[in-house]
Amino acid sequence: MTSQIAANLAAVESRIAAAAARAGRAADDVRLLPVSKTKSPADVLVARAAGYRRFGENKVQEAQAKWQELRDTDIEWAVIGHLQSNKARQVAQFATEFQALASLKVARELDKRLLAEGRRLQVLVQVNSSGEDQKFGLPPAEVLAFTRELGAFSALDVRGLMTLAVFSSDHGRVRACFEVMQQVQRELRDAHGGGWDELSMGMSGDFELAIEHGATCVRVGQAVFGARLDPNDYWPGAG
Ligand SMILES: *Cc1c(COP(=O)(O)O)cnc(C)c1O
Repeated sequence: MTSQIAANLAAVESRIAAAAARAGRAADDVRLLPVSKTKSPADVLVARAAGYRRFGENKVQEAQAKWQELRDTDIEWAVIGHLQSNKARQVAQFATEFQALASLKVARELDKRLLAEGRRLQVLVQVNSSGEDQKFGLPPAEVLAFTRELGAFSALDVRGLMTLAVFSSDHGRVRACFEVMQQVQRELRDAHGGGWDELSMGMSGDFELAIEHGATCVRVGQAVFGARLDPNDYWPGAG
């Protein structure tokens, strides 16, 4: 298991480098965020030994449990899944990054809790680029107005955008989602006079295509840690 994770990381790194080269980009423009959901703290430590410090988790309770377990390390946590405002207090306590901001209520709650903790949080705004009802995130047409409100939250360090593309083997449909994101990013840069550099998009099945469309962060779970565990066999701390 140990050497498998390290080998997987190396393989994903070289695929990232190749995709970046095809797009005329530098490989180090693209950050690999290993997604450790359902995986044990021991697996996270293997990836830490391979040079990765920050890990993505989509559930607050699971992320918080791993943070507790690994508190003595320098590991950082990125919460990448939808957040209810009643979980903002926990996120403000331990997370370094939150990639799924899509409501002012959550922004307000996070800001308040962060100020109380004396912490700051790197934030990405989640966009529903596929238009699917079951996906979280703001509709593209609402992103600009939303971002104009974020200056009020001094503890939020807003860096860019995040999306989950449609899950499909049809590259055209996946590509259309990434193109929507590039368009929204351009619109924000024009309106705000720059910034909005981070574009978190691409997962195990589509990260190369995302890199060709300007992704600066790819969130990769299964291609790094192997197939996800059955929900009933989750690492026990996940609850
Ligand atoms: C699970 C997850 C990923 C990683 O998915 P894989 O297919 O395992 O690479 C990326 N982003 C989010 C928001 C996720 O929940």
